[in-house]
Amino acid sequence: MEIYIDGQFVPETEAKVSVFDHGFLYGDGVFEGIRSYNGKIFRLMDHIDRLYDSAKTIDMAVPVSKEEFADIIIETVRRNGLQDGYIRPIVTRGTGTMGLDPRKCPNPTIICIAIEWGAMYGDLYEKGLTAVTVAVRRNSPDALPPNVKSLNYLNNILAKIEANYKGGDEAIFFDAQGRISEGSGDNIFIVKNGTIYTPYTLTNLKGITRQVLIEIVETLGVPLREVELGFYDLYTADEIIVTGTAAEIAPIVTVDGRSIGSGRPGPITKQIMAAFKTITEQEGTPVY
Ligand code: PLP
Repeated sequence: MEIYIDGQFVPETEAKVSVFDHGFLYGDGVFEGIRSYNGKIFRLMDHIDRLYDSAKTIDMAVPVSKEEFADIIIETVRRNGLQDGYIRPIVTRGTGTMGLDPRKCPNPTIICIAIEWGAMYGDLYEKGLTAVTVAVRRNSPDALPPNVKSLNYLNNILAKIEANYKGGDEAIFFDAQGRISEGSGDNIFIVKNGTIYTPYTLTNLKGITRQVLIEIVETLGVPLREVELGFYDLYTADEIIVTGTAAEIAPIVTVDGRSIGSGRPGPITKQIMAAFKTITEQEGTPVY
């Protein structure tokens, strides 16, 4: 495996950051998760735009242009000979001193990892996932906006730990007011009486797969509304869908032990999953 770090491609064993890198010391940095399908990188520029927006929010200047970053990502995929891959670009604050002040870190560290990777949830796309709501609340937008894809994922990891103990495949977060926010690594949609509902993105990541789903349902003619949702809406949903680059488009068939709809992936979910497969086969930035 070849990994890009600080201007060079090196073998995995040589891809190292300093213990004084603030990405390591403080989670000070940003990242993306991108997929390639059949040698084409899916929604590459959308991910790069979001990476730069995350960096802007934490007042970090990415030291290369967006076009140069795209070339780094494409080259990482090419060197590793990937077809169906998962790509992880990372920009850390860089090496500094022992102390929070980012002004002590003059040069952000750029890293890009890319691995071959298939379906994250295996046969659960057919059967459906179980989800549990978690006590830990999603980071508040006035503290650490969930829109920033930052290297500090402890909030999400706490949710994942809770889901593991409760036996759920995925965790569903509420915000501090009890409104549904998102999953630990995906956005959430509820289908009720033929309409799809999803939370506003104030309290969750502006998901790129979320955007793809919005485009799909427009073409399918299924109405979609952004609204505030609570746990009542989860338990009484006809279908629940989660979306993410890693998770792709996945059906949730139980929440906190309650069966959702028929307890099987529903018809609208299946239609959206099929359309997503077609789009990922057709679109993308060619690597080779
Ligand atoms: N929400 C969180 C917390 C995530 O980590 C992710 C994954 O990137 C998503 C949502 C889905 O975003 P996307 O579809 O852009 O991958």
